[in-house]
Amino acid sequence: MTSAPEWATAQQLQDDEALDVVRLDDSRGLGVRTRQAFAAGAVVHRFAGIVSGDICQHSLQIDASRHISGTRYIGYLSHGCDPNCRLDMVGFVLVALRAVAPGEVLTVDYADTEDRLHRQFACCCGAAACRGWIHGRREAPNPEGLAWLAEHDAR
Ligand SMILES: [Zn+2]
Repeated sequence: MTSAPEWATAQQLQDDEALDVVRLDDSRGLGVRTRQAFAAGAVVHRFAGIVSGDICQHSLQIDASRHISGTRYIGYLSHGCDPNCRLDMVGFVLVALRAVAPGEVLTVDYADTEDRLHRQFACCCGAAACRGWIHGRREAPNPEGLAWLAEHDAR
């Protein structure tokens, strides 16, 4: 476990009045919904948490060896292949990629930050460019993913 840098843990984990963690549905689990509109490029949220070398279900990768967990919101962001937000792992901010309306579920591309996912999964984001099977940027689809891709390519 690496020591936590000051800039990641100095902040308190406070409620953000703009965001809610909500249950989306049974297949997608928890997600983050915004109560506010954000313009493209706007900082949606500043986050803090516990920095360590461990990957867990709700951790996010900071750099080659460090991950942040125990965050108030960003660990619950949904994946989207054409997301409305991105994570800045240097500034520790969530940034809107396009205009976001109140009530929208916030999404990021998990493969933007994660070398390896805690769990690979079939995506149902609905984007025209949906990749179908989601895995980390430095790992191949697992056997379940290869089977899934073979089945869906065949259609
Ligand atoms: Zn997708």
